[in-house]
Amino acid sequence: MQANALPQRASVVIIGGGMAGLSCAAALARRGVSDVVLLEAETLAHAKASSFGETRMFREMYSDPVLCRLAQEANRLWREEETHAGEQLRDTHGLLFYGESWDEETIEGSIPGARRVMDDQGIPYEALSASAIAARFPLKPKPDFTGLFEPTAGAVRSDKVVAHWIRTARKAGHQLLEHCPVSQLDADGGGVTLSSGDHISADQLVVACGIWSQLLLAPLGLAPKLEVWPMLWAHYTVDPALASRYPQWFCFQRERGDDGGLYYGFPVLSTTADGRPRIKCGIDWSPKELRVAEPNAMVTEPPARLVELLDGFLFNELEGVQERVETVISPYSMASDVNFVLDRLTPKLSLFAGGSGQAFKFAPLIGDSLARLASGEQPAVDLTCWNHQRDAVRA
Ligand SMILES: Cc1cc2nc3c(=O)[nH]c(=O)nc-3n(C[C@H](O)[C@H](O)[C@H](O)COP(=O)(O)OP(=O)(O)OC[C@H]3O[C@@H](n4cnc5c(N)ncnc54)[C@H](O)[C@@H]3O)c2cc1C
Repeated sequence: MQANALPQRASVVIIGGGMAGLSCAAALARRGVSDVVLLEAETLAHAKASSFGETRMFREMYSDPVLCRLAQEANRLWREEETHAGEQLRDTHGLLFYGESWDEETIEGSIPGARRVMDDQGIPYEALSASAIAARFPLKPKPDFTGLFEPTAGAVRSDKVVAHWIRTARKAGHQLLEHCPVSQLDADGGGVTLSSGDHISADQLVVACGIWSQLLLAPLGLAPKLEVWPMLWAHYTVDPALASRYPQWFCFQRERGDDGGLYYGFPVLSTTADGRPRIKCGIDWSPKELRVAEPNAMVTEPPARLVELLDGFLFNELEGVQERVETVISPYSMASDVNFVLDRLTPKLSLFAGGSGQAFKFAPLIGDSLARLASGEQPAVDLTCWNHQRDAVRA
């Protein structure tokens, strides 16, 4: 981006080109707002940020009744998004929650909690015993494990969605500017200063900087209380004979020593460059000593012990897993109540942050809500649970 090509003003300036910033840009485009500038410090949905990768789970299987309802609303909006895109952006192949049941909610909920909420809200599911799980999928559940299978869940094709948002925003005339880090927000939210020293004035600012949002908001005294968790995921090649049988799964187990017990995986949705089927799997906890407040202090290399634990789970608890072929650390932005912050912080400044491991499935709702806030409206649904003044995020 050449400095002399920078606009001096826009009606909306969005800071951050991940899920939140891009979904907001696309939603503003659909509302007919054309004078929008999105500033991204690196490249759109880059590999060090939280929105990188080919897939994200979507589900309504939540232990929290409010999130379950909001996930249903997001799914309605995904269907509209797919109509706009003229293509499918999600694969519906179901999701298996399986594992131990104990009297505690994890950051992903729990099997009994999700069952209660799905019963209350009429979400279809199948209850499965350990032997039924083993018969149906190449998984090796322990005898005391139980499972819930939600047939209408699946995977958002996040890379496809990102490409769709970029097309939608560019078609509306939005400027999506890469390599344009913002160094400072105007105190009144009336503009931003870039690291280059350039200034862009705006009627409205949307801060969508993921784990880095704190750095821009702290000088204004507006930073919510969030932690940064480094999260490990990897691709593993699998036996081609079993490739069609892997489910999308989430395994709940109690924490034991340094094993946080929560693991997840996707079906075969892609292949390696040389054509071998692969599954994406990850660990859904971060050891306390690796959680940080300062975003740039997060480890970026996969910690050996976490890789050992993930390998141990994959090679011992699934059948047909062959080789780990790609290993990645990506950040979670975490509130202590594992819920997001989506709110107007000042009359001219709105924020999305704290997306944890949950937010992508809510993307059309997040984008639409940010676009409404930037247009001086309220979100179309009640998002009190994501407000920035709740105790869990008040600094
Ligand atoms: C490993 C992993 C697995 C996940 N799995 C799921 C799942 O299965 N289902 C689900 O629903 N959700 C999932 N999530 C959650 C979801 O992906 C994230 O919550 C979401 O992508 C966060 O998007 P974001 O736009 O807030 O942040 P990011 O994607 O991190 O985007 C923030 C952007 O802001 C830019 N930026 C930062 N500072 C500045 C600045 N000063 N100036 C300009 N730009 C700046 C950054 O470079 C970055 O590109 C997962 C997340 C991770 C990490």
